[in-house]
Amino acid sequence: MDYRCVKCGFRIKTLFVQYSPGNIRLMKCENCRAVADEYIECEIMILLIDLILHKPQAYRHLLYNVINRETVNLEGLLWKSTIGFILLDAYRSLLLRRSNEEQSSPMNFSSLVWLCRKMLKDVVFGNIMFLCVFLLASRFCLNTSAGVSR
Ligand SMILES: [Zn+2]
Repeated sequence: MDYRCVKCGFRIKTLFVQYSPGNIRLMKCENCRAVADEYIECEIMILLIDLILHKPQAYRHLLYNVINRETVNLEGLLWKSTIGFILLDAYRSLLLRRSNEEQSSPMNFSSLVWLCRKMLKDVVFGNIMFLCVFLLASRFCLNTSAGVSR
């Protein structure tokens, strides 16, 4: 597996050398001369806080040094999270609509099925439109900017 320095993104062979159990030495990056990944010794809460703060070092640690691309099925994970997101969004939309119509007539089974179909259709269509606009906008912005990178 290929690791990366969390400061500069330079490729590094190994992140630490273990001399004995619990006794490790963190490797330094050959490019920036800093410790390649100090999150190895940090607790998960510190990593979580840095992820919430959108620190690029925390994202590099998580994406390059923790998630192993050979063992994790990224495409399957993407599809599962997409379906989960759409179902949760439909549920949120259903709850918002029901709270607005709370004083209306009581629901029977056919109106509930009709409402769920309509919610799912609206959410799927809304998310597809959002993704299309987002992809077009990102493509437009990335083509016009000077430094295009992945
Ligand atoms: Zn570096």
